[in-house]
Amino acid sequence: MERTALLRSLSCSSLACSRFLFSAPKFSRSFLSKSRAVPSAARYHRRLVPNRSLLRRNKWRSLAAASSNSSTLRFSLNKKHFSSLAVRAVASPPTQPDISGVDDEVAEKLGFEKVSEEFIGECKSKAVLFKHKKTGAQVMSVSNDDENKVFGVVFRTPPKDSTGIPHILEHSVLCGSRKYPLKEPFVELLKGSLNTFLNAFTYPDRTCYPVASTNTKDFYNLVDVYLDAVFFPKCIEDFQTFQQEGWHYELNDPSEDITYKGVVFNEMKGVYSQPDNLLGRTAQQALFPDNTYGVDSGGDPQAIPKLTFEEFKEFHRKFYHPSNARIWFYGDDDPYERLRILSEYLDAFDASNAPHESKVLPQQLFSEPVRIVEKYPAGEGGDLKKKHMVCLNWLLSDKPLDLQTELTLGFLDHLMLGTPASPLRKVLLESGLGDAIIGGGVEDELLQPQFSIGLKGVSEDDVPKVEELIMNSLKKLVEEGFDSDAVEASMNTIEFSLRENNTGSFPRGLSLMLRSMGKWIYDMDPFEPLKYEKPLTILKARIAEEGSKAVFSPLIEKYILNNPHCVTIEMQPDPEKASRDEAAEKEILEKLKSSMTEEDLAELARATQELKLKQETPDPPEALRSVPSLSLHDIPKEPMRVPTEIGDINGVKVLQHDLFTNDVLYTEVVFDTSSLKQELLPLVPLFCQSLLEMGTKDLSFVQLNQLIGRKTGGISVYPFTSSIRGKKDPSSHIIVRGKSMAGRADDLFNLMNCVLQEVQFTDQQRFKQFVSQSKARLENRLRGSGHAIAMARMDAKLNVAGWISEQMGGLSYLEFLQALEEKVDNDWAGISSSLEEIRQSLLSREGCLINMTADGKNLSNSEKFVSKFLDLLPSKSPVERASWGIQLPPNNEAILIPTQVNYVGKAANLYDSGYQLNGSAYVITKHISNTWLWDRVRVSGGAYGGFCNFDTHSGVFTFLSYRDPNLLKTLDIYDGTGDFLREFEMDDDALTKAIIGTIGDVDAYQLPDAKGYSSLLRHLLGVTEEERQTRREEILSTSLKDFKEFADAIDTIKDKGVAVVVASPDDVEAANKERPDFFEVKKGL
Ligand SMILES: [Zn+2]
Repeated sequence: MERTALLRSLSCSSLACSRFLFSAPKFSRSFLSKSRAVPSAARYHRRLVPNRSLLRRNKWRSLAAASSNSSTLRFSLNKKHFSSLAVRAVASPPTQPDISGVDDEVAEKLGFEKVSEEFIGECKSKAVLFKHKKTGAQVMSVSNDDENKVFGVVFRTPPKDSTGIPHILEHSVLCGSRKYPLKEPFVELLKGSLNTFLNAFTYPDRTCYPVASTNTKDFYNLVDVYLDAVFFPKCIEDFQTFQQEGWHYELNDPSEDITYKGVVFNEMKGVYSQPDNLLGRTAQQALFPDNTYGVDSGGDPQAIPKLTFEEFKEFHRKFYHPSNARIWFYGDDDPYERLRILSEYLDAFDASNAPHESKVLPQQLFSEPVRIVEKYPAGEGGDLKKKHMVCLNWLLSDKPLDLQTELTLGFLDHLMLGTPASPLRKVLLESGLGDAIIGGGVEDELLQPQFSIGLKGVSEDDVPKVEELIMNSLKKLVEEGFDSDAVEASMNTIEFSLRENNTGSFPRGLSLMLRSMGKWIYDMDPFEPLKYEKPLTILKARIAEEGSKAVFSPLIEKYILNNPHCVTIEMQPDPEKASRDEAAEKEILEKLKSSMTEEDLAELARATQELKLKQETPDPPEALRSVPSLSLHDIPKEPMRVPTEIGDINGVKVLQHDLFTNDVLYTEVVFDTSSLKQELLPLVPLFCQSLLEMGTKDLSFVQLNQLIGRKTGGISVYPFTSSIRGKKDPSSHIIVRGKSMAGRADDLFNLMNCVLQEVQFTDQQRFKQFVSQSKARLENRLRGSGHAIAMARMDAKLNVAGWISEQMGGLSYLEFLQALEEKVDNDWAGISSSLEEIRQSLLSREGCLINMTADGKNLSNSEKFVSKFLDLLPSKSPVERASWGIQLPPNNEAILIPTQVNYVGKAANLYDSGYQLNGSAYVITKHISNTWLWDRVRVSGGAYGGFCNFDTHSGVFTFLSYRDPNLLKTLDIYDGTGDFLREFEMDDDALTKAIIGTIGDVDAYQLPDAKGYSSLLRHLLGVTEEERQTRREEILSTSLKDFKEFADAIDTIKDKGVAVVVASPDDVEAANKERPDFFEVKKGL
């Protein structure tokens, strides 16, 4: 997620990097990795469409992870030699800064009693646990000097069935409350606050409402809206909100068919269309048949329509109560003010019985293993025999584990699976039995920890072989133990990551909250999970004294091999499942319709109209004004500047950013790919992966990975492509990114050189694995992030940079990989020499650029290593730019996949029809997403998301929807945007909010490495400081007139735009019937 900020700072909602189309990084879910930025959650539900982030953010990180698979895959960092483990990897002595607290007496007066208090060296914070005396609400008040303040309120919400109550409630409470009586205060905050984080998550047993901001006034505004929302929501009296967010019958006209609608309903249909998701759900439910984890808190689309409004209200009454709440404050604000705000809300309640009713009971261990076979919806083409998935899952213990054991298990997880060189991962992938690894390793976010591992893309006959291989490999690890270099590499990777605490754009305080909550929610100590130094020291000492085998082998035996609580899940592809589910749903609805009288039908049609009307009626200005906002005076007039010095070393341009990084050096080496032959482009991602995973003449890839793990914080290699505004030729580069302790800069640059120059492209079998992994990843992406595939496809039709990106990550890339699979067998020599050719045309001091971020002293100390690195690079005369004047034909396309919900896109290039960029476009684009598209595509259309994006570098404006039950209807909404803008009215308050929200995006909070990186991207794309200043002024002076004028530009999309959808065959057929030959049909899966 760290790229959020990067990209936003580039120049607002630039899409420059969002071209990269790979799945989100895979994180380990161990105790250790809870330091990771993102909550583990694709499994959990978020209120906001995850792809808002996907679109704008997250881009290059995903690509980096996908193409490098280096030691950055699970942990991003690492550092010292084992012998020096005692030395802190990141120097941060736990001295206590001067942090103000709340006088006990003052706290008492406000109704709180102090339970305990600690200074936590690991996060340099003073943490105080309070209890609200009247209700028993618990409050963690964490104080430090972090300006990115975080608040969160969390309730235990264990469901009893799979109707999705917790999830629907999570969506609904943010739809208006006592003090903020408008349709969606949440959207008002999205539009008009400086939040650095705003969302809500539903876990299997809890619901979290976090917000963050660096601006104190803004922060308290967000806190107030959230508190009012959870304790006094309108939805418990408003049946229509329940219908809108949960489910309802829709009947537009008595002559038409009745359908189900609802945001969560469609969101979950999308989730249930993805085999990986289905597998995760099946595994969880099978591991915990007897407690709350045996049902789906997100909601099973077949069960959601059984939920009644009464049950929904009762669930809120019972669980959304202060007695059942855990509240978190973090940052540099006044701890007194926190308690004052809380007392206003909490005092209104008396203690309740909720803490008992919401207790999560443990699952007892089985005495025998279980085996489950399930079907998943598959496409009709391809070799279905090779599409089986098999996964082994264990429940590790009948009660929560202590932190020391958890940390050790997390370490074991990293050793077995953390990097491509890790033995269990390696042996599974090298077996050739499947395409990609599934199962998340150790997971410990729920009451009891689990371990799961398996393969997908397995042929039916090989399923037992996979199971056998996993068991045998685990036995072998018990017998042989782990390589000492591997142990050292894992230790350093984990230690570096914990201490660097680089959570990207995800607020550090939120990452800590989620970590603390993992224990606190089960009535355990909330301080413990924040303190890793002691257990880490103990673990290191044990490894040093007893040897790693004595530490880890008994764990594998006890928790896995000798543990009968094992569930094996086999998922079989079923090409008829999607249509069967569809037909079953239709039948229910037809039966319902035939049982209804004419009056009933008329009444349902009337109710449908009434709901639509309500959804489409804007809130009155008075209601909108109830949501507090900043004024333009609170906004800095100048953009945030990143210190940048441009110099040169050995004739190569070097950008240096003098920023405090706690002794870590971050660097990027950028190479120009514009001389690459066109036919080599699709090979670039695999080239990048090969660099990190093939090995050299002297080092196997395992050794190379371990070296990187031991000496650096990780190295990744990935392509970067974007249009440059006003230029014909795109920016097309390969970026090598690395980090290490500044004292290890020598090692870092040596290893980068080794990766670039010495790696040999000779390992045919490994390359074959890369191809099948990439193919599996892309297929997964097509189902889970079809909007990104659609967007890439449209971009490829509209500009050259888009075309290049699509070659490296879109549907074209998938087609390329399918063909490549055979070619690896038939013409490996040809591929190997193509990889070498890419290296030859890339590696040169010409067109090379270095970017470095660290403090001044460390920057200058590192220069000699940069110079040595550059000396080793060949110097060539500049090569001719290859001509890539190619785009895909601009026809409308439908890409078919087995799904029940669609992804619908339409786009055009606004610059081609004469539009000239003005900063107001950022405000308008954001506003269209948050009003017109939110209201029509999501709220009344029933899609999980609808949004638009303006790539200011290429000029391409894109509309997209996510998990959308509609198709042509959504395209019509897009086409109506121009008229919406023409008739658009807004008062000054609303306009100010829109401007402030946009500035919030532009000024997104960034950690130092992100600041340095975004400055690099601006440099590559020719965005000057003057231009940033101009855009900012234009944003700040946006007027209603700008909105109206933008209407003509937007109409380009209606008149000349190209539409691409990723959709179900039935819906596409129906669309082509309604509008003959509208879509050219392409097979996706
Ligand atoms: Zn949701």
